[in-house]
Amino acid sequence: MSQRVEKAVEILKNTGVRMTPQRHAILSYLLETMNHPTADEIYKALEGKFPNMSVATIYNNLRVFKDAGLVRELTYGDASSRFDANVEEDHYHAICSECGSIRDFHFPYLRDAEASAAESIGFRVTGHRMEVYGICEDCQKKTH
Ligand SMILES: [Zn+2]
Ligand SMILES: [Zn+2]
Repeated sequence: MSQRVEKAVEILKNTGVRMTPQRHAILSYLLETMNHPTADEIYKALEGKFPNMSVATIYNNLRVFKDAGLVRELTYGDASSRFDANVEEDHYHAICSECGSIRDFHFPYLRDAEASAAESIGFRVTGHRMEVYGICEDCQKKTH
C-alpha cells in the first residue's frame, strides 16, 4: 500500500468512515492512476475484481471521498465529472480534446497574477482557474 493511500485511509478512519474492500480499491485506484478518471472509468477498471459492484457504489464512494476532502470533482459542462485525487499540490490541467483525459502540470508563475490583481485593483483574491486544451501524447501517436 502506498503512503498516499495509507494516509487517505487514516483520514477516512478519523472521520468515522468504515473501510470496505471495495472502498479501499476505489480509493487506491484514484490515488494511483492520477489520470482524473470518470466514475465509469473507475467502474470498468474494477468490475473484474468486484463483479457485484455497481456504478452507484462508485458514485457513493466518490461522494464520501469528496466530503472528506480527498478528491475534487471536476465538472466541464458535460454529464461526466472527472475526479482529481491530487488535492495537495497546486496544479493546472491540460485537457485532451480527443480522449478527454486530463493531465496535471505545474506552473507556479500564475501566483503573480493573483498578487497583481490584489495590488492593481485592490481585489481580495480567493483563487483562479486556468486550463490548457489540446491533444495528449497518446492521441498524437494514434493519428500518425
Ligand atoms: Zn488524448
Ligand atoms: Zn489534477
